[in-house]
Amino acid sequence: MVLTTAILDTVDELRQTVAALHGELTRNELVIWTAGNVSARVPGQDLMVIKPSGVSYDNLAGETMVVTDLFGNLVHGELAPSSDTAAHAYVYRHMPEVGGVVHTHSTYATAWAARGEPIPCVLTMIADEFGGDIPVGPFAIIGDDSIGRGIVETLRGSRSPAVLMQNHGPFSVGKDARSAVKAAVMVEDVARTVHIARQLGAPLAISQQDIDQLHQRYQNVYGQH
Ligand SMILES: [Zn+2]
Repeated sequence: MVLTTAILDTVDELRQTVAALHGELTRNELVIWTAGNVSARVPGQDLMVIKPSGVSYDNLAGETMVVTDLFGNLVHGELAPSSDTAAHAYVYRHMPEVGGVVHTHSTYATAWAARGEPIPCVLTMIADEFGGDIPVGPFAIIGDDSIGRGIVETLRGSRSPAVLMQNHGPFSVGKDARSAVKAAVMVEDVARTVHIARQLGAPLAISQQDIDQLHQRYQNVYGQH
């Protein structure tokens, strides 16, 4: 596949953005070593930009980011794509509204995944960002479509932009890579808070009506317009 100059300009900009967003994973202490990755859909193209496999976060410049098609085949770049590329690609193929995907093994969210337990919606910020409990996806082995399929099937039945893949860790999505990173940061934060809340008692539930209202307001009214 040959990329036109216009697409290459877009791709180069996205590579810088995606490289910089990997810095948010370390800044927010969501990743250790090279585990964890951010990808972005190339708007209007069946292409995505993703982290290369096994490269240290200190060496992640824009130029090291690789471009693949939505089946994970390398289209542009020097290095082999992340080993999670197939899962990211599956999400882009099946969720056209998604422009960014993030995967980490952040400690608290992954602890919930280890128990296969959804994070209950007991904080207004969970209602705001996730619209309910943060769901658990099926156990899946890396190497085929099963992780991607598990992510898509779980997210389709939920308002949450994040899923805890059982025995594995969180995957999050967003309209772009930045909002997927935001969801990855938030899922770890609420996983930690609800874990701590449980140490001294049972967190209080929020009514479905209040969850709906909080979510609606946050998604449509909150922030700068
Ligand atoms: Zn993983």
